This record gives sequence, structure tokens and C-alpha cells, in this order.
Amino acid sequence: MEQWLVGVDLGGTTVKLAFVNMYGEIICKWEIPTDKSEQGKHITTHIAKAIDEKLRELDESKERLVGIGIGAPGPVNMATGDIYEAVNLGWKNYPLKDRLEMETGLPVVVDNDANIAAIGEMWKGAGDGAKNLILVTLGTGVGGGVIVNGQIVHGTNGAGGEIGHITSIPEGGASCNCGKTGCLETIASATGIARIATERLQQMNEPSCLQDVWKTSGTVTAKDVFDAAKENDTLALQIVDEVTFHLGLALANLANGLNPEKIVIGGGVSKAGDMLAQAVARHFKRFAFPRVAEAADIVIATLGNDAGVIGGAWLVKENIV
Ligand SMILES: [Zn+2]
Repeated sequence: MEQWLVGVDLGGTTVKLAFVNMYGEIICKWEIPTDKSEQGKHITTHIAKAIDEKLRELDESKERLVGIGIGAPGPVNMATGDIYEAVNLGWKNYPLKDRLEMETGLPVVVDNDANIAAIGEMWKGAGDGAKNLILVTLGTGVGGGVIVNGQIVHGTNGAGGEIGHITSIPEGGASCNCGKTGCLETIASATGIARIATERLQQMNEPSCLQDVWKTSGTVTAKDVFDAAKENDTLALQIVDEVTFHLGLALANLANGLNPEKIVIGGGVSKAGDMLAQAVARHFKRFAFPRVAEAADIVIATLGNDAGVIGGAWLVKENIV
């Protein structure tokens, strides 16, 4: 009987689940809403029930399942599988591994959500098997995962790969959720790009199709900026240049210490595609040590929302099988 791995990507709004075979192919994927009530105490029960219901639906038994690999939105204590803190779930020092093992009767491996996305892209996505890889995800925030010699870098207390909090503006930058100012996240996240665009629009009155968007809808999104840039809108091109300058600079500084083979850009903003990758690569080349620049390929993530569940499955394959 073919054995299946269970990948779980636990987010603030939805829990994505998948049964994945040993080759990293998704057999079945689905999602359930994240129940954040009562400090997130029902989340593990809901995951256990969702797995049982899906097995019943497929007329399969639990024998098929090897274990669960789950990514959680917060730093993880790798020795215990506890989550130090997941603010948007209401968890503090939460024993995720223990709870989920108890509820499901299956062995569980826990890691951070950005890290499992990086692993997913390494295994089946844009990483194309590269063992030295950096993933940067540009979404509401900026997340990151660093893989060295095929292993995720967790660091001393679970905060390895926090690329979003590399300082881009040393003095006078915008406030970041982490408590600092001027973090890369304040510039290169979807939120950051929209903030910069709004500021520019408030300061100037030159014709730009972003002006029209702003005046009609009252807001400008990162997608509006990239769409306008593709139409050669001057203001939009300036904003894209500013954002990709900071991304290229931060990634080059990081890469100078790691010498990666692939730098994968994921998250909602990465839908901007080649235009984004090429602009980042142009700035990256200026700031990277020549041999580092030569080796590093800057590409757009290919797995989209599936990266997390595939990375979760890989954790099971690596650690339990
Ligand atoms: Zn920060």
C-alpha cells in the first residue's frame, strides 16, 4: 500500500491540508477555517477531525498515513515542537506537537510556515532541488526561509530566516509590527508598497494612472502599482524601482553570507512575475559579491498556496519515514 504524508499549513484565516505521496505529489488537498476562539484551543481538534473526515470520504484507513508535518505562523522550539508565540492565533508557548499527536495518534513534525514553504519550493517548486536556497515571501508581511545544505536554518531561538526584518532604512523609516522601524517588510510587503504609493500620490500631482485608481477607489494596492508599471507609468516604475532596490540590496547582503544557488520570490506580490524578478536581479547584481551574483538565480515561486503543504509533507518524509 502506498503511504501518504500529511502536510498542514496553518494560517491566521485558513488551515490548508493535503495528503501527499512519497514523490511529493498531492493526492488530495482541502482547507478549513482557522478557529481562533478561546486562544486557538480548538485548532488541533479541528485538524484531527478534518483528517478523519477526509479519510472516510476517500474510503481510506489511517494506516495509509505516515505522519503530519505542520507549519505554524510563529517561531518554533525545534527541540519540543512548541510554538513560542503565534500572535494571530492567540498562542504563547503552545505545545503544538504534543496536542496534535494526542488528537490524531500520528507522529507530528512542527516548523515555521515560511520555512516549510521554502522547503516545498526546494523539493517540488522553483528551487528545482537546489540545496542552498533563500525564499522571500512578499505578502501582507515579508517572510523568509533560508536553506543551507538542504537543511532549514532555525537559528538559536527559532528566529532564523526573518528576512522581513532586515533593516533597509536605518533612520526615520516606517514603523514595523516587530517594534523596529525601517524593516524591509515596511517597504517590500504588499502593505509597504501600497503605503509608499499612497505617500507619493499625496506628495505629487503629475498625471499617472495611479492617480485615477486612487481617486476612484480611495486606495492603491501593490497590484495596481505593478499593473501600472507594466503600462510604463512613470510613477509606478519609480515605486517598483525603489521597492526592488531595497529587495535587491537586502538579498545581496544576505546572499554574500550564504552563497545560495536559488533565490525564490513568493507570496501574493510575486504574481507580478518576471518584471519583479528581473528588477530585483538588476539591483542584486550591483550589491552582490561577483562570485555570489554569478551563482544565484533569482526566480518566482511556482507552487503558490501549495508550497506549505508540500513542505510539510517533506518534513514527515525526512524526519519520520
Ligand atoms: Zn520588523
